[in-house]
Amino acid sequence: MPIIGASATDPNKILPLTYPWAREFYKNGVANNWVPEEVSMQKDVEQWKAPDVLSDTERRLILWNLGFFSTAESLTANNIVLAVYRHVTNPECRQYLLRQAFEEAIHTDTFIYCSDSLGLDPDRIYTMYHTIPSIREKDQFVIEITRSIFDPSFDLVAPAAADRTTNVQRFLRDLIGYYVIMEGIFFYAGFAMMLALKRQGKMIGIGEQFEFIMRDESVHLAFGCELINTIKQDYPAAWSAELQAEVVDLVRRGVQFEQAYAHDACPDGLLGINAVQFARYVEYVADRRLERIGLPRQYETDNPFPWMSHTMDLNKEKNFFETRVTEYQPAGALDWD
Ligand code: FE
Ligand code: MN
Repeated sequence: MPIIGASATDPNKILPLTYPWAREFYKNGVANNWVPEEVSMQKDVEQWKAPDVLSDTERRLILWNLGFFSTAESLTANNIVLAVYRHVTNPECRQYLLRQAFEEAIHTDTFIYCSDSLGLDPDRIYTMYHTIPSIREKDQFVIEITRSIFDPSFDLVAPAAADRTTNVQRFLRDLIGYYVIMEGIFFYAGFAMMLALKRQGKMIGIGEQFEFIMRDESVHLAFGCELINTIKQDYPAAWSAELQAEVVDLVRRGVQFEQAYAHDACPDGLLGINAVQFARYVEYVADRRLERIGLPRQYETDNPFPWMSHTMDLNKEKNFFETRVTEYQPAGALDWD
């Protein structure tokens, strides 16, 4: 029984489970529960108001990241609820999608909390996705490549046989645009920047909230890749050489947008860290994402920030899914083709 399409599982009958991994993701999400108010912003507020703690570069980096994430979290929530949920009818996957949607609401709340605590002008922060080109380009890129599944005439359930492969391909491409590029690449230069700042004792409250968000996003991403890989197994004809090449090209373009963003958000570098390293980190991350969906690495870039993985490790055992990436590496282990 395929995970999507006309003969997919009954959306109201969750037991017995067809995809136990989806339920594991749900339980993992629940185990990671948090809310932004658990994290004190007291020190951040003091540092933000002090004239001599943060450099202009650091302030720019903070504002750019709040500007990107504040609206990106709503964009991802809309994608889950309005598009992915409509097409993925399997009940245990939907249970996870509801959990993910809730987590996106928590993330949206986090940026309200940060903006309020620091007394930022919401009309500045929440319009940066229009006014800052490097942010606008990332969001526009994602909106473009996920447009087809928002199209009301897009019918994944009962297309004529001739259209089925094409529709599954459109859906796969859009899922990759959403889970792999948006959540898996476009969030990660920002995570690295804010956590680099936290390592220097600056804006540690926001940094801790970014750690919680990163932990959640690593599970979203892992669920998305599992979903993508299951669809590939169900519809091997859809995962054609052409689609694979198109996906690699999209990922490479996504990497360029994220690198441009990193240079824009952090033009002069932080103490001991610069935009070139953030750009290399994006390549390292993109290679891991590609591997996870069975595509070849493109960059072979070493991780310039090994402490980013340690950050995940320190979050108790919560990066379980992130560290399982090696299971996807042997191409023969799963018969996708
Ligand atoms: Fe999020
Ligand atoms: Mn997410």
